[in-house]
Amino acid sequence: MHLQRKPVLFLDIDGVISLWGFPPDERPEGAFHNVDGVVHFLSAAAGEHLRALGERYELVWCSGWEEKGNEYLPRALGLPGPLPFLSFDRNPGRGHAHWKLAAIEAYAGNRPLAWVDDAHDNACHAWARTRQAPTLLVATEPSAGMTAAHVERLVRWVTGRAPDAATKV
Ligand SMILES: [Mg+2]
Repeated sequence: MHLQRKPVLFLDIDGVISLWGFPPDERPEGAFHNVDGVVHFLSAAAGEHLRALGERYELVWCSGWEEKGNEYLPRALGLPGPLPFLSFDRNPGRGHAHWKLAAIEAYAGNRPLAWVDDAHDNACHAWARTRQAPTLLVATEPSAGMTAAHVERLVRWVTGRAPDAATKV
C-alpha cells in the first residue's frame, strides 16, 4: 500500500533534463554542470517544470543516473529535495523488454503512471497498451528536453481523467 496516491511520473534525465544535440547558435536556456567529471548541459526550464508537475504527480528519477540524480539535480534545478529513484538490474533477463520496464513495474504496481523519456522503444509502447492502470508515455527530443507543451499534456492527462477511466495513450 502506497501512502502516496498521486500517479507516478517517471523521469528520465539524459535527453529530458540534460540536453545535447542542439545547434551551437540555438542553445536552449540552461547551463553546463560538471557531474562526476562529465559535462552535462542542464535545461534551465526543467526546475520550474518539475516543481509544477510535483503538485500532481509523485516524481521519481528513472535514469541510469540512479542515485546520482539526487546528488546534483535538486540543487542545480531548485527542487525542494531528493526524489525517489529507480535502480536497474544490469541484466534484466527479459529478452525483448526495455531495460527500465521491470524496475518501473516493481515501483508502480497497479498505480497510474506517466513516463517521460527520449528513448521509448516498441517494447515500451506494447507494455503501456497492456497495463491495467492508465499509462502515458511522453517522448522528448534530446536537443530540447521537457518543454512547456509536455508539461501541459501531463497536467491535462492527470486532471482530465475520470478516476477509473482506462485511458491509454
Ligand atoms: Mg534518456
